[in-house]
Amino acid sequence: MTTVTQTMRPSIHPGETIDAAHERTRTTLKELGAYQSVNPNARFQNFVFRNTQHRRHQIIAALEEARKPQIAERMRDCCSKLYLYRHQPTASYATRANSCGYRWCPNCGPVQVYMARRRVLENLPPPQHRLSFLTLTQPAVLDRPLGECIRNIRTAFTRLRKTDLWHKYVSAGVYVLEITLNNQTGWYHVHIHAIIDARYIPDHQLQDAWSEALRTPAILNLSAVDNPLATGRYLASYMAKPLPDELYADHARLASALSALVGVPTMKTFGAWHGLHLATRDRQAAADAAGPLDEWQFIGDIDLLVFRARSGSTLAAQHLRDAGYGEVLPTLLDRPQTKPRPPPWLFNAA
Ligand SMILES: [Zn+2]
Repeated sequence: MTTVTQTMRPSIHPGETIDAAHERTRTTLKELGAYQSVNPNARFQNFVFRNTQHRRHQIIAALEEARKPQIAERMRDCCSKLYLYRHQPTASYATRANSCGYRWCPNCGPVQVYMARRRVLENLPPPQHRLSFLTLTQPAVLDRPLGECIRNIRTAFTRLRKTDLWHKYVSAGVYVLEITLNNQTGWYHVHIHAIIDARYIPDHQLQDAWSEALRTPAILNLSAVDNPLATGRYLASYMAKPLPDELYADHARLASALSALVGVPTMKTFGAWHGLHLATRDRQAAADAAGPLDEWQFIGDIDLLVFRARSGSTLAAQHLRDAGYGEVLPTLLDRPQTKPRPPPWLFNAA
């Protein structure tokens, strides 16, 4: 028997613990009657994406169009593999579904947002000065591609953070990007929304510094954070929609937008918070919650376990029973095997 060598990262719903995620996966599989089918994994995946299949296909097709085959492949695989693990000290079982972890995946996106929000609330150190919300805008430009808009605003923000003014007042911060489309013109608007730990900055000075960093007159908004609990909600609200809805109507544009977004961090820290673990991919937390990895024994792929149980393996059947799945009925073996009929044109040709 092998033990788990990789981090267990089940597909978690917002607010769910690892145990609850495993239990939900198991219950879903059971309720789907997956054991009466030859391929429980595929049935589980169809169930997970039952309401979002169309959007998911749009994104996968756009990623292929954008020549990101590996990312498309990983997204296509999301929730398609189910594995059974056994926790050796307690002899309890866990069913794990894999997940792609991309923010534009209909299954993983909301989880990423939830995790990011929780981590902002839990991990931001107490401010040295006071917390403020800062919105930095840049004027929309005719038909400028999304990649260019993102590069432009991020470069300007880096420039701003190198100014004396910034160093004098701001000690730390975290930011996210917001991407919207203007309904009338169809042009992209990319803004930066940040939480900063700063002393009181005169608005007009910051405004001038931002315009200079952007090399064009632009506006910003600065307001004090009244309730620290609002910080997580603030960032999460902008992360919840990685792409504007209007983009889904235009396949070519969606492809180029996704191509521009791949590799751009969802949330980024700077100053004294630089390097703080606010990453939205929460592998370590998932691993910690599941206990030491070497205590988990890998039992097998659910598809294959069911197949083996049906084929007479008492060990596979025992594992499934102990994991709470009940008896696997050897229905497929009992049923007389009928050969599928060939389609009519082949039939005629033969
Ligand atoms: Zn996913």
